Amino acid sequence: MVDVTADVAVVGAGAAGLSLALRLARPPAGAGPLDTVLLAAPAGPARAAPRTWCFWEAGGGPYDEVLAASWQRLRVRGTGGSEVTAAIAPLHYKMLRSEALEGLAEREIAASGRVSRVEAAVDRIAPTPDGALVHARRAGGGRVTVHARWVFDSRPLGLLPPARTTLLQHFRGWFVRTERPAFDPGVVELMDFRTPQPSHGLSFGYVLPVGPREALVEYTEFSSRVLGRAAYDRALRHYAQRVLGLDRYEVTGREQGVIPMTDAEFARQSAPGVFRIGACAGATRPSTGYTFSGVQRQTRAVAAALHSGRHPLPPRAHSARARLMDAVLLHALAGGRIDGPAFFTRLFTRVPAARLLRFLDGRTNLAEDLGIGAHVPVAAMLASAVTLPFVPRRALPAHRPTDTGAEPHAPSA
Ligand SMILES: Cc1cc2nc3c(=O)[nH]c(=O)nc-3n(C[C@H](O)[C@H](O)[C@H](O)COP(=O)(O)OP(=O)(O)OC[C@H]3O[C@@H](n4cnc5c(N)ncnc54)[C@H](O)[C@@H]3O)c2cc1C
Repeated sequence: MVDVTADVAVVGAGAAGLSLALRLARPPAGAGPLDTVLLAAPAGPARAAPRTWCFWEAGGGPYDEVLAASWQRLRVRGTGGSEVTAAIAPLHYKMLRSEALEGLAEREIAASGRVSRVEAAVDRIAPTPDGALVHARRAGGGRVTVHARWVFDSRPLGLLPPARTTLLQHFRGWFVRTERPAFDPGVVELMDFRTPQPSHGLSFGYVLPVGPREALVEYTEFSSRVLGRAAYDRALRHYAQRVLGLDRYEVTGREQGVIPMTDAEFARQSAPGVFRIGACAGATRPSTGYTFSGVQRQTRAVAAALHSGRHPLPPRAHSARARLMDAVLLHALAGGRIDGPAFFTRLFTRVPAARLLRFLDGRTNLAEDLGIGAHVPVAAMLASAVTLPFVPRRALPAHRPTDTGAEPHAPSA
C-alpha cells in the first residue's frame, strides 16, 4: 500500500539530501510544481552524527545566513615550520554546521508547501514502471511507503566500488575554548604539517578559529588505516599543547570522521527513475576529501533539470581531467613516491591560493592546470601515471564516520 505519492523522493537528510530538498523548496519563477518528500533517518544507527562542513565560494551563497564563520586568509605550514599565509579573495572559506543547515531546511521546507519531511529509515527502493516505491520504517516500528516518479538516494554505501587506490582521510577534532586569547580569527590553519608524520601517508593539524578563544582543532591523516580514539586524542593533545602552545583550555565538543579518497567510479543511477547523489555518487574530490562543493554542483544540476522537465541524471561532480590527475596523485601518495607534506606545502607556496582553490573545484582551464603541474615533482608523477593502468581495481568496505561532536562533554586541559 502506498502512503504518500510524490514527484520526487529524496532519501537521506545529510549534505546532499538537505541541499536538494532546499533547492526544490525554492523553485525558480515559472517552474512547474514538484511535490517532494524528504526521508530523514530517525534517531538511531542510520542517522548521521552532526558535523562541520567547510567549502569555498566567491561572494555570497545560499547558506550565508546560517554560516558559523567565514575567512579570506589561509595558512599552510611545512614540517619544519616554514609558513605561507595566503589571501584568497574573491573567495571565502566558509564553515557550516550540519545542525544549522538542518534548521534552515526545516524552516524553508515548512514555508514552501511543496516539500514534506518524513522521519523514517529507508530499507528498500523498488523500481516500478513509473518511478519507484521507497519502503521505510518509522522510529516506532510502523512502515511507510512512498511512491515517487524520481528517487534520489544519498545513503552511504556499505562497500566502495572497485578502485586502484583508496586512501582514507581520517580525523578527529576538538572544539576548544581557551582561557586567554590564543587564535587569530582571521586565518584558517589549513594544513599544519608540524605534526609527527606517520610511517605511511601524512598527517597535519587543521584549525578553524571562530574567535580569539575558540576554535575547532583537528588532527588529520591521509593513510590506509584509521586510528583508535585514544590515539587521535594523544595526537590532538600533542598538537594543541606542544605545537600550538595552548595551555589552559576546555574541550567543549568533538567530531570524528573518515572520508575515502579513491579513484573508484561511482554509479549515479541504479534504475530508470532511481539515482544516487552526494558522496555515494562520487561527489568527494579524491585528492582532498572535500565533498560539499561537489554536492552543491550535483544538486544544483538535478534541481534545474527537474524544474525544467529534463532527465535528472546527476552529473559527475568532477571532470575526467580532474579525476585522472587525482588518480595519479593518490597512487603516488599511497606508494610513497612523493613526500606528501612537501608536495602540498610547495603547491601553496608557489601557486596563488585562490587559483589552487579554483583548481580543486575544477574551475581552472587547461593552461592554468599545466601551470600548476609545473610545481609538482614531475618524475614521480610520471612514474605513477605509467604504472597506474596496470594496478588492479579492488572493492573495499566503506568506513562510516564513527562518531562526533555529540559525544558527552569531558573537560580536559
Ligand atoms: C565529520 C566529517 C566532516 C566533514 N567535513 C567536510 C568538510 O569540511 N568539507 C567537505 O567538503 N566535506 C567534508 N566531509 C565529507 C562530506 O562532505 C560529508 O561526508 C557529507 O556529509 C557528505 O554528504 P552526503 O549527503 O553525501 O552524505 P551524508 O551527509 O552522510 O548524508 C547521508 C544521509 O543519509 C542518512 N541515512 C543513512 N541511512 C539511511 C536510511 N536507511 N534511511 C534514511 N536515511 C539514511 C544519514 O542519516 C545521512 O543524513 C566531512 C565528513 C565527515 C564525516
